[in-house]
Amino acid sequence: MSSTLPKVAWIGLGIMGSPMSENLVKAGYDVTGFTLERDKLERLTAAGGTAAGSIAEAVRDADVVITMVPASPQVEAIAYGPDGILENVRTGALLIDMSSITPQTSVDLAKAAKDKGIRVLDAPVSGGEAGAVEAVLSIMVGGEQADFDRAQPLFEALGKTIVLCGPHGSGQTVKAANQLIVAVNIQACAEAVVFLEKSGVDLKAALDVLNGGLAGSTVLTRKKDNFLNRDFEPGFRIDLHHKDMGIVTDAARNVGAALPVGAVVAQLVASLRTQGDGGLDHSALLRAVERLSGARA
Ligand code: NAD
Repeated sequence: MSSTLPKVAWIGLGIMGSPMSENLVKAGYDVTGFTLERDKLERLTAAGGTAAGSIAEAVRDADVVITMVPASPQVEAIAYGPDGILENVRTGALLIDMSSITPQTSVDLAKAAKDKGIRVLDAPVSGGEAGAVEAVLSIMVGGEQADFDRAQPLFEALGKTIVLCGPHGSGQTVKAANQLIVAVNIQACAEAVVFLEKSGVDLKAALDVLNGGLAGSTVLTRKKDNFLNRDFEPGFRIDLHHKDMGIVTDAARNVGAALPVGAVVAQLVASLRTQGDGGLDHSALLRAVERLSGARA
């Protein structure tokens, strides 16, 4: 059965890339991976995939290359140059970048790839580590309809809500808006948590009832236990959300959209990072509110 499915190369086996690539293996795909950490390569092998020693080796026989690395500089590093994807993948291959990067980087990548006969989609995701593990991610795609149609079966093994948003870069623009909404939502939840605790209310009871009403959200559902247990193991690192707040504030400035609340939350994320919390989950915005409120932090 697997012989009829496209061969997949997966570059970037981190918090998201590992469970996502494993979901493709479970769906019957032949997946060859490359990433910087040896233990992540061993994890892929244990799950039934194949470990490669370089990007060139990983992509050489691939029909589809999927990338899931931290930010624009890493996407550029793995895509370009003699050892990169574009030089080493077959003509006609489809490159799907699922990292969250600047829309302009996606547009530039699509252009460079087109010159070499390689198709590109930007396809960032939302849903966090749990969404990746459970294969229920939201996937926001930019690129051409025919490439989207070709990628659809792969996307269906990774997520539940899969939408072509427009031309190259559109997926990234939608993802930037997603990160704005998530950060502001976490900040509001964190402020509510400190307010509730200082008021002496049973926090678990309060968050349960809040989540059943208009204040409820996927953020509250997914992060409630992080707040209750002060568990800030990532998840989604503050460092990455700092990167995303930079992307959305910059992109909004370019189109003349004001983000007054987003700008404040971007500053709070940046300050948390400066204070040494960059490696914590973004629910650690609670720590910033606690410091401002003279509560524990
Ligand atoms: P991560 O830091 O856990 O993983 C990144 C992986 O990229 C690492 O395994 C690293 O080895 C690999 N990598 C970096 N440079 C490389 C190179 N030159 N060659 C090969 N591999 C390289 O990050 P993550 O949390 O998995 O996030 C990945 C992307 O997904 C980011 O853009 C992030 O913003 C986005 N995202 C993350 C989440 C989340 O909850 N973690 C949710 C949605 C989107």
